[in-house]
Amino acid sequence: MRCDVLSNYTLGIDVGSTTSKCIILKNGADLVGKSLFPSGTGTTGPARALQAALEEAGLTKEQVVYSVATGYGRQAKGLADTDMSELSCHAMGAHFLCPDVHTVVDIGGQDIKVMRVEQGTLAFFQMNDKCAAGTGRFLEVMAKVLEVEVDKLGELSAKSEQAVQISSTCTVFAESEVISQLSKGASVYDIIAGIHKSVTSKVVGLVHRVGAQEPVMMTGGVSLNQGVLRALEEDLRCSVRTSELSQYAGAIGAALYGYKQAKNKGLIEA
Ligand code: ADP
Repeated sequence: MRCDVLSNYTLGIDVGSTTSKCIILKNGADLVGKSLFPSGTGTTGPARALQAALEEAGLTKEQVVYSVATGYGRQAKGLADTDMSELSCHAMGAHFLCPDVHTVVDIGGQDIKVMRVEQGTLAFFQMNDKCAAGTGRFLEVMAKVLEVEVDKLGELSAKSEQAVQISSTCTVFAESEVISQLSKGASVYDIIAGIHKSVTSKVVGLVHRVGAQEPVMMTGGVSLNQGVLRALEEDLRCSVRTSELSQYAGAIGAALYGYKQAKNKGLIEA
């Protein structure tokens, strides 16, 4: 992706607990640069993500009219012109990816957000408590115990015949349950399917509090896990949309907010 002319570029950076994502939009509409680094707040990930997105767009930082940071590490000094709450950015980003979306389920490295979105604006939300149950971190811990890569969990769970029941949602207790199932000789595929069910059991409670109004969309890094996506569809009894850019929803929302801000400040033509 290269930019030929200089005009109206805004940048959104989402500094998460686990990954740093950066998006550059032209005219608040066309994606001209994106990057993702698997390290989040407090690391070199944000600076590297920023640089990589600028390089992909063929721009320098000075050519970006306005930048907005969001996510857990959004208030890091010098990162962007301003910062914006994660929830608002995720709602805007999901609306960009799926304009008629009503319910957004975002599962990231350490939190679960369920949002009701009305025409791109956040109307209501619920989040998990501080515990790691049902988050990307929970899946990472389980993948480690099973000695598989986290990005392989989805395809492995597709081979399951009968999901093993993991009754504890607490990461520490669930880890012991998985070890116990392994020692009893349960199939790894069935254990992973059980882990995915454990994730969605935590998520579904939040979805019902918000109200699962279709279309439902899943965003965040865990949306790349097809096993969790299928389990969520089964539990909600409806189809759940996603996008190849779902993990970038927060960064897209930040870049869109940057575009609105730049217009309000007269930095670009209204
Ligand atoms: P955050 O914004 O909190 O840093 P992300 O939304 O980037 O988190 O999600 C990170 C989580 O996404 C990881 O903990 C992991 O469980 C999951 N994940 C990341 N990449 C993949 C992948 N390729 N396949 C499946 N799951 C993934």
